[in-house]
Amino acid sequence: MMGELICACCNKPLPSDSFALGLRRPGAWIALSRAERRKGKDSDDYVSFTDKGKPRYFVRAVLELPIVGTDRHFEYGPWVELDEASFIDYGEHEDDVVAKHEWFGHVSIEPGYDIPDRLPVTVVQRVGIRPLLIARDEVVRKMQEEGVTTEYVHRLLAKHAGWS
Ligand SMILES: [Zn+2]
Repeated sequence: MMGELICACCNKPLPSDSFALGLRRPGAWIALSRAERRKGKDSDDYVSFTDKGKPRYFVRAVLELPIVGTDRHFEYGPWVELDEASFIDYGEHEDDVVAKHEWFGHVSIEPGYDIPDRLPVTVVQRVGIRPLLIARDEVVRKMQEEGVTTEYVHRLLAKHAGWS
């Protein structure tokens, strides 16, 4: 059990078990009509559908933001769109026991999150868990390198996870 983190803005303990915000489906999927969704395929790890005759593929991933002054990370759980060749390669290699694969993709996220939709990312295979994202855009890359504050985490959880 990890210790709790006290938020610097309000001195309240942030929920200690997980600093995580999972996104249940890709933004592009959420934007579909119900009739369009019925023709696609979705699960908690893979989504695919045809958009104007063109197949689109998504996998769920993790984007870690270190929390400044702690040894903890905040975990975003966004989806990433891969092209067809990468999606097939991903399916063939995601369970490899040595993590050595990377793919290029774009985040697909609903409006309103701090991670921009279509953010370009490197998708890094991990053994036994969802892949890790490395931002290829300067703003988010800087957040990944320099970290975010407890106030930032509080704000995100309050906005998106119903936390007060
Ligand atoms: Zn706070």
